[in-house]
Order: sequence, then structure tokens, then C-alpha cells
Amino acid sequence: MTFKELNLISPILKAINDEGYEQPSPIQAQAIPPLLEGRDVLGCAQTGTGKTAAFAIPILQKLFKANATKTSGRAVKALILTPTRELAAQVGQSFKTYGRYTGLKTIVMFGGVSQVPQVEELRAGADILVATPGRLCDLINQKICDLSSISFFVLDEADRMLDMGFIADVKKIIALIPRSRQTLLFSATMPKEIAALADTILQKPIKVTVTPVSSPVEIIDQSVYFVDNSSKSGLLLHLLKTQQVYSALVFTRTKRRADQVCRTLNKSGVSAGVIHSDKSQTARQRALAEFAAGKTWVLVATDIAARGIDIDKLTHVFNYNLPEEAEAYVHRIGRTGRAGHEGTAISLCSFDEKPYLESIQKLIKMDIRVEEDNPYPMQNFEPRKPPAPRPPKSSAGSGRRKPHPSTKPNRPSRPSPDAKKHR
Ligand code: AMP
Repeated sequence: MTFKELNLISPILKAINDEGYEQPSPIQAQAIPPLLEGRDVLGCAQTGTGKTAAFAIPILQKLFKANATKTSGRAVKALILTPTRELAAQVGQSFKTYGRYTGLKTIVMFGGVSQVPQVEELRAGADILVATPGRLCDLINQKICDLSSISFFVLDEADRMLDMGFIADVKKIIALIPRSRQTLLFSATMPKEIAALADTILQKPIKVTVTPVSSPVEIIDQSVYFVDNSSKSGLLLHLLKTQQVYSALVFTRTKRRADQVCRTLNKSGVSAGVIHSDKSQTARQRALAEFAAGKTWVLVATDIAARGIDIDKLTHVFNYNLPEEAEAYVHRIGRTGRAGHEGTAISLCSFDEKPYLESIQKLIKMDIRVEEDNPYPMQNFEPRKPPAPRPPKSSAGSGRRKPHPSTKPNRPSRPSPDAKKHR
């Protein structure tokens, strides 16, 4: 199957060609034809499958054919709702990329930044609006955004909308969109609430499923190291040094740990950035941009902040902590191995985290390979004790713990450009 066989118009074929895509991914081959025919689509797909192009391309083509660019006084005709700001920015960028020869205008609105420039863009007119629910509700309440001309509505990553508590806002927004529209709903998993929402907003949808719900991308090489919490940074530094890492995303369970890991990496000579929800929007965007541009080698993140990150050539995902929710593991490792590239996911599992590993293996229906070649083998086989009450402060220095030998700075260097070329 080629893109030409999907009956795409030449401005879009040209943009796809610029991107170097050779053939449609399975979700694109399945979803583009019914979308061009005007059908509603329910897509069960994770990021990394090419789902953004699967919905962006037909919407752009239909708007272009409807002569949307010639309409005087542009009104927003397509609305895409995404759960996070990062995903909104990426989806907006995809519309701009695939639509670059169509003359259609895409704008992106999300919270955490001043609304003034966004309002100016909205007033100047646009065809496609990509937004997060909170900011869009604010703009609707202020009567700045009007949804009465919408004829395409996409709800992206619906399961995350639910996890993040946005469903009430989403329902409020949907109630304001005209009923005569084409609706698309994408979700990596299909919890009951999302299936019920899909029933109410989609009309006779075509169902498109690309990977079985919750199954990790098979091409990703997954392994686990059993290691004590106190040795994790030493092991992480060792792996960064020895694994031919081109760029890596490191997941931690908490924001505090993310900051701590980032500091340790930077102190050890590894250029690292950090993103989590306590960081300002500007700081998050900067950290992402520096990582995408290769200025930093490692990005440390918490689950929610990293949702939807789409970085080409991300070779490694490290789970510094195993996630408590098994499904988060699937989302995390899906950041690598994008669009058919190889990827590696390495988990650092302490004794306390073994139950999480078991539920992950149950969910993905496979055993993750245990790495035996481990310079920091687990020594502690007891559950973590609750922290002891602090002793009263006595003479300076007496309570100070010696650094664990395994966390001694160990300065790895980024692989040489030649090494990268061969990745
Ligand atoms: P998505 O699942 O939409 O987040 O897309 C994941 C990645 O796949 C993005 O980096 C896209 O640029 C890339 N991609 C999308 N469609 C194709 C295709 N047909 N061939 C190669 N790469 C693609």
C-alpha cells in the first residue's frame, strides 16, 4: 500500500514525501479511507503508531477540498482535544507539517502560559484548533472561542483525559459542538467510561485497532536489573556509559526523585534536563526543545509530563522506578521504538518494586529478561522499613552518612558521533 493509493491530494502527498515516509503505517492504511468517506472512527492505538497523521491527513484533505482556505472570515472548523500541553504542541506541529502546502492554518492553545498571544491568533482566524480542555473551557467561558462552525472533532488519548480528571471539561466542550460533524476518538486503552463516552459521541464508527490493547511494542528490547535503591544512580550512570545510548528518557515515580536524578547526572558530567508538572510551562518546553535538539542527552521525567513525547531516535527508556500502575509501563516504553525504529527499555527494580514488576509481566503477558551482567547486584532482600525518627541534632557532622560507594561519580561520555551514525 502506498500513500498515493489512499487517493490523497498532491499538496499532502508532497508534504508526506518531504517527511520521507515511504508507506502508510497500519493505522493510517486502516483509518484514512473511512475518514475520507466521512465515517466516524474509534481508534485503539498508542502513540508511536502514526495515529496523528492518520487523523490529521484526512481532516486536512477534506478541509482543503471544501475550499476552506477561500472562506472569508476564517472560523475554526476542526477541533482536536489532547490531554497535555506537550501533546497539543506536537499534534499542532503535525497539522502544520502535513498541511504545509494546503494554506490551512492551525493554532494551538494550552494553559500554563499567558492567553494573550493565543487570543490574538484566534481572533486572526484559523481553520484547525488543537487545544487542551482546561484552556479551551477558559476561552469559551470568556466568550473568546466559538465552536459553532466545527465539523471535525478529534478526542485524542481519551483514556489519559480520564486519568487526568478532564472528562467533565471534555463533556462540556462536546455539548457546544454542532451534532452534524465527523467525530474521531483515539485511546490506547478502553476503560468502561471511555467506551460509554464513545457510544454517545460517535455515530456508527469504524473500529480501528493496531496493537492489542495494552501490549507493548514488540520490537522494543526489554530488560530488568535487580538493584538496591541506593545503587540505582550508579547503575544508571554505568548503563549510560556502556550501552551506546543515543538519547534516553529516564522515568521516576516522583517529581522530587526526577529533580534528584537530573542533578546527579549533571554532577557526573551527563547533560540532562528534567520535566514534571511543578516546572513552569516555559521550563518544560525549553527542556524538551534542548533534548529534541540533542543539546541534552538525557531527559528525566515523571509519567504525566512525558505523556505523548515524540522524539525521533530516542533509543533508550530507563525506568529508574517501576511504575505502580502496570499500564504506565506500556506508555513509558512506547516512547522508544517509534514508527518501526528499534528501541531499548531498561528497568531498575528494587526489592520493594518486585510486585510492580509482576503485575507488569502479567499485563504484557511475557517475562522481562533479567540482566545477569550487573555490577550493582541487589543486596537488600527485605521490604523497605518506614523511616526512623530523626535523632536530635548533635555535634556537626556526626549524623552524616558516607556516600554509598556505588554512587561515586562516574563520568560517562556521550557516544562519539561515529557511534551514533551506526545506531
Ligand atoms: P504518532 O503515533 O502519531 O505519535 O507518530 C509517531 C512517529 O511516527 C512520528 O515521529 C511520525 O513523524 C512518524 N510517522 C508517522 N507516520 C509515519 C509513516 N507512515 N512512516 C514513517 N514514520 C511515520
